[in-house]
Amino acid sequence: MKCPACGRELTEMTAGDVKVDACQNGCGGIWFDRFELKKLADPRESDGESLLELNRDPEVSVDLEARKKCPACADMVMMRHFFSPKKAVEVEECPQCGGHWLDCGELGEIRSWKLSDKERFEAAQEYFSEIFDNQLAQLEKARKVEAEKISNITRIFRFITPSWYLKRK
Ligand SMILES: [Zn+2]
Ligand SMILES: [Zn+2]
Repeated sequence: MKCPACGRELTEMTAGDVKVDACQNGCGGIWFDRFELKKLADPRESDGESLLELNRDPEVSVDLEARKKCPACADMVMMRHFFSPKKAVEVEECPQCGGHWLDCGELGEIRSWKLSDKERFEAAQEYFSEIFDNQLAQLEKARKVEAEKISNITRIFRFITPSWYLKRK
């Protein structure tokens, strides 16, 4: 499948159980078959995250205003329309197969616009607490290893010097 924006060969990429065709190392656009975009546009669906950072060739420039042909159908011009309810992001949709073309960065925009301010704040907090929890878990793990070492040493000493323990009882 050829990229409708820059003409390069699209690369099949998997995001969770969804397969998309991305212009990896080209213009960074992504082709979604029918219904695929709806799923990955949901910011709570972490499967879409892997598609947010495609490699883009800085040499490739794309005319964002130009009408593009559907990469799946022969000679079908896609229609531009707003995707988000807040009319923040425009996407292109094929009237025949129902697939969507998103230019570079548009998936990220859709995902962040779908969040309310409160949700955006919560998502940021969740993100940070995940990082902190991870660090805490690692510290806890390190502490446990230390504690185990100490109890092993104690056990060895108990074996070597049982009388010392007996006396203390
Ligand atoms: Zn491209
Ligand atoms: Zn089509």
